[in-house]
Amino acid sequence: MNQKPAIPKDAAAVILIKNGKVLWAQRNPNIKFLGGWHAFPGGKLEAADCDIEVLNCADAEDLKKFIVCAVRELFEETGVLLVRNGEKLTKGQRASLHDDLISGRSGFAEILADWNLRIDAKDFLYAGCWTTPQFSPIRFKTRFFAAECPSKQEPYAAISELRDIEFIAPENALERWANSEVLISPPVLISLQELADSRFRIEDSGFRIQDSGFRIEDSKKAFSILNLESSILNLLRKSQKVDGDIDYIELNPHVVCFPLKTETLPPATHTNCFIVGREKFIVIDAASKDENEQRKLFELIDSFIEKGFVCLEIIVSHLHPDHFGGETALQTHLFSKFNLKVPISAHKITAESLRGEIEFQKFIADEEIINLSDETGVNFELKAFHAPGHARGHLCFYDEAKGFLLASDNIVGAGTVVIAPPEGNMTDYLKTLKRMKNLPNLRFLCGSHGSAVFNAKGKIEEYIAHRLEREKQILEVFQTGAKTPAEIVERVYIGLKPELVKPAEKSVEAHLEKLKNDGQI
Ligand SMILES: [Zn+2]
Repeated sequence: MNQKPAIPKDAAAVILIKNGKVLWAQRNPNIKFLGGWHAFPGGKLEAADCDIEVLNCADAEDLKKFIVCAVRELFEETGVLLVRNGEKLTKGQRASLHDDLISGRSGFAEILADWNLRIDAKDFLYAGCWTTPQFSPIRFKTRFFAAECPSKQEPYAAISELRDIEFIAPENALERWANSEVLISPPVLISLQELADSRFRIEDSGFRIQDSGFRIEDSKKAFSILNLESSILNLLRKSQKVDGDIDYIELNPHVVCFPLKTETLPPATHTNCFIVGREKFIVIDAASKDENEQRKLFELIDSFIEKGFVCLEIIVSHLHPDHFGGETALQTHLFSKFNLKVPISAHKITAESLRGEIEFQKFIADEEIINLSDETGVNFELKAFHAPGHARGHLCFYDEAKGFLLASDNIVGAGTVVIAPPEGNMTDYLKTLKRMKNLPNLRFLCGSHGSAVFNAKGKIEEYIAHRLEREKQILEVFQTGAKTPAEIVERVYIGLKPELVKPAEKSVEAHLEKLKNDGQI
């Protein structure tokens, strides 16, 4: 059943800086990869990027093409042209060249050559390389470069991929993240944290970028911001230390999403484990049976406990085998290493279904409040709610103050939700979706598979519409002679991968059951 992770595509991004602020923008919510998330400008390497010369970069062939990619992407996305001789272009000329590039009338190499513009490695500091985690169906291996924005150029959202483009003080960006107003990926978060720190640092490391493998002589001239170099060096070291691997995503300071490899339904390959809270925290779906995956998760949880944080409970969201398997190992681990007795909990129905497989010490009921407030003055309540449909004892969790819903398997960022009777029930599922949609203050959600979703309400509405559309199609083919789930799947689910035929038949069964109960067939 298990699929191989997607192969990462080469990419580059720019940390563009002006007067101590950094440029970011929101990605169009309709984009498949991190739609609605905030990001730095950047994108995929193109073959032609390899053919463009870069000044002062002879000893770094490998990074050269990524500098070109960074410059081109920055120009495409923001209209900022970070090249030598660029100051002689007027705003109008830049706009016209941008139009030539975007429309395909001219290639980037051609534009640079025609106007005698040169890319110079001295204008960039290499800030490291990060790879999208394996759970994502679309992955990039992105080289980050810091650069100063040319003084006379104003970035704008030059393509529909981006909106709300702005220079923001790193600490303000972090505040928006802390309030759960924005979603940001780990490399962006680490960059902002490092830049925010550097604003208060006095010492100067005298860093030269030769250390990282390519030369920028006298890079201090290129940067007016005190200590930028040392924070970029820190960023580079951090990425090198972990080889660009990202184990988990901090969705806000209270929600860590830790994707774990599981035997789940394709195209998903991982189940999201959530560590929610701070000084008091809970762990939801420590799902992996794989010892390597468990070890990585335990390392993070151990680091919390070593800071004095308290693990209140280990929760299993529902009975499916891709949602449990590591919870008992975690419980045993916490007892043997720290002498802590942490209960395992679930909804009563789930606990009954898993009797003999997991020993539960606690049950969670609908609308139960899990109080994660702590001594530091953090007020944090997480509401559990019973959300049947996908599974009878299914639990979801809601942080109303921040509008953040952990939807478990009711909504997923990757793959589809299967409603398989008798455990699954379509009438209940639609009721659950409507209940989730009406949660007060709802903004973001994250399901058990795939990335967090920026527009939670829109996503839930999409799911409801999709189910009702399927129901209509099923009713139609049923009335024209297709009676069994297999016959219906053949006519409704065109081009389905073989491994998804059985789950689709189960979903059809659930739809038929609902149609029968509604008196429609
Ligand atoms: Zn499930």
